Amino acid sequence: MTLKRQRVSELLKETPGKEVLAKGWVRTKRGNKNIAFIALNDGSTINNIQIVCDFSNFTPDETFKDITTGSAIAVTGKLVESVGSGQKVEIQAEKIELYGTADPEKYPLQKKGHSMEFLREIAHLRPRTNTFGAVLRIRHAMAFAIHKYFNDRGFYYLHTPIITASDAEGAGAMFQVTTLNIDNPPRREDGKVDFSQDFFGRHTNLTVSGQLEGELGAMALGNIYTFGPTFRAENSNTPRHLAEFWMIEPEMAFVEIDENMDVAEDFIKYLVRYALDNCMDDLIFLNNMIDKGLIERLKSVVSTDFVRMTYTEAIDILVKSGAKFEYPVSWGVDLQSEHERYLVEQHFGKPVILTDYPKDIKAFYMKQNDDGKTVRGMDVLFPKIGEIIGGSQREESYDKLMARINELHMDMTNLWWYLDTRRFGSAPHSGFGLGFERLLLFVTGMSNIRDVIPFPRTPKSAEF
Ligand code: ATP
Ligand code: MN
Repeated sequence: MTLKRQRVSELLKETPGKEVLAKGWVRTKRGNKNIAFIALNDGSTINNIQIVCDFSNFTPDETFKDITTGSAIAVTGKLVESVGSGQKVEIQAEKIELYGTADPEKYPLQKKGHSMEFLREIAHLRPRTNTFGAVLRIRHAMAFAIHKYFNDRGFYYLHTPIITASDAEGAGAMFQVTTLNIDNPPRREDGKVDFSQDFFGRHTNLTVSGQLEGELGAMALGNIYTFGPTFRAENSNTPRHLAEFWMIEPEMAFVEIDENMDVAEDFIKYLVRYALDNCMDDLIFLNNMIDKGLIERLKSVVSTDFVRMTYTEAIDILVKSGAKFEYPVSWGVDLQSEHERYLVEQHFGKPVILTDYPKDIKAFYMKQNDDGKTVRGMDVLFPKIGEIIGGSQREESYDKLMARINELHMDMTNLWWYLDTRRFGSAPHSGFGLGFERLLLFVTGMSNIRDVIPFPRTPKSAEF
């Protein structure tokens, strides 16, 4: 009878005694002429399974010496109780097949303890490290939990387009999409590029947000969410910005700003709780190796009520704080991460939701307050991150929305369809965007956003 391969995560939970087959990559191999120990990892868990090669009853073949850190092997043997491996069980090897070697002179992950910067230069191999294995498993768990959260609550997953004809989504600089020959594009009589000859017969970009299309979905299905990649060509080389990142954007009909805040708070707490309930092995590893306060911080967020206050109140606190900021604060400024983190970390010691921002620093579609100065935006601010969610109640009045659009001299030619939501069956509605990688920064304790996505895209960097 041929043995069925089991993942290491399963094997570590098995009762000892039976024949097993494991396949994976060697993390370490050590020993002497009587016995060798191999730590095997197959990506299913942060934990390795120990393979014991006792040469009194295991005869290695000539390939055994080529089994080194990084090589791929298949091991058949008996699962036995373990005393020294740190796990309950280990495998007493009977047969080992070597699939692929990893030349110790050349394999970049031969040694442990590489810097995050170095690992970014070998982004094609870094998933094989403990840290990135943990991060990527948590990333998966969070993506799954996001779909579960919304599915369980009657939200529909709406696939909004990645290529868009609008260039006024109001959320940042855009990447252009074209099949024209950029060395010699066709030109109109006025000298401008003739995009009517382009693939789509018009000028197109990569989306910066699925929100505007999400609103169309909400005005038909009630509650929707998007979860897809978004692209921003802003040259912000910070530990919190990527040029390509994933965003989750729920949009809800008949929901106003207070309920929008309730959903945002409940959603993010659900995700953190899900990580605590389902990713503990990886969190313990990250807590030990990356950020000693991680698990405590996660627990504190799920068990605390977020502070809710207006932008104006927050400015008051910041001004009165006497704290030294790189960017000075006064009413009307766009809050910087340093200000957001001061409120969250120094002043309140917990997450904060700010509302009612000055209209001049927020997007055109936010619902205007009666004071004529502020809009019903809301940002959720988190420890170590600053803004993790940005959202708002949307302006549902066609006239008010048009007045704002005209005030901003926006060209709405390509957004005529968006305005139709306000012409036909308009209703109060709200939504927000959660940056998936910012969530992962929080949940994993990693400090650079380049290290919570498998293949980061940032200015001057898109190699892998
Ligand atoms: P910031 O002020 O931090 O640049 P923003 O206000 O431009 O963010 P929004 O347009 O409100 O961002 O986007 C919603 C969410 O998407 C943000 O709250 C954040 O979590 C995330 N986000 C925005 N820009 C980026 C980026 N360049 N890389 C990763 N996540 C981002
Ligand atoms: Mn924002």
